[in-house]
Amino acid sequence: MEALEARGGVAPAREILGQGVTRAALARAARDGLVVRVRHGVYALGRTSPAVVAAAAHGGAVACVTALALWGVWVLADPGLHVWLGDKGRAHAHPGCRCTDHHGAGRAAFGVVPIADALVQAARCLSREAFFAAYESAWRLGLIGAADRITIRSALPSRLRRVLDIARGDAESGLESLLRLRLADRGIRLDCQVPVIGVGGVDFVLAGRIILEVDGRENHDGPSMRHKDLVRDAAAAAAGYEKLRFDYALVVYSWPLVEAAILRRLGR
Ligand SMILES: [Zn+2]
Ligand SMILES: [Zn+2]
Repeated sequence: MEALEARGGVAPAREILGQGVTRAALARAARDGLVVRVRHGVYALGRTSPAVVAAAAHGGAVACVTALALWGVWVLADPGLHVWLGDKGRAHAHPGCRCTDHHGAGRAAFGVVPIADALVQAARCLSREAFFAAYESAWRLGLIGAADRITIRSALPSRLRRVLDIARGDAESGLESLLRLRLADRGIRLDCQVPVIGVGGVDFVLAGRIILEVDGRENHDGPSMRHKDLVRDAAAAAAGYEKLRFDYALVVYSWPLVEAAILRRLGR
């Protein structure tokens, strides 16, 4: 178990045999449930993350969007299992395999790829918007530093390098990232967490003129909440702001309608 632990919880048997580990000891540990046989010649500790075990069964390391999700980075949808196989590694058959393979320079290994590698891989599997949101999320979580950001930039195609110019390390949510990128494409500035007198902190302000409210999970029903909302609306109007209100589903799934509403209001 120590030999496996030292290798991140999963390793080929040939790497641990001879390190004071005998075939008999390995077989006994597997029989006792302390280690699991991932596939022929590959063993893992029983408590290894299921994604890492599944990627090892496939032949490599958890990669791309799956790695980002493991790190706690915001990804739009359930990514499935993406596996790094290195330059020469091959995919192995295993039950329920629906894996997405990633190849490239370097040797296949088990475990989880480094976060900067995962972001570069994800640039190929995600839409431009989803990549941007994941990148900002990783930055905000403190998972990528200045050196990582330089490495990532140099590995990306030029069309994605341009979106990194508007990326920030303080985006509060994936929704904020999506909004900022979509509005930037239209040349509209988005300010976030803006203090407005009489209203308090406002999540989004468009072009310095329009308060954009996006209802999340919080409950806006009930007479007292309704009264508070109306007070905020009146205070915003008194401070010279217009107001537009949408919900998360509208912004994510009905963007053309939201965009048309924003452009018409800004035009006026
Ligand atoms: Zn991928
Ligand atoms: Zn697979």
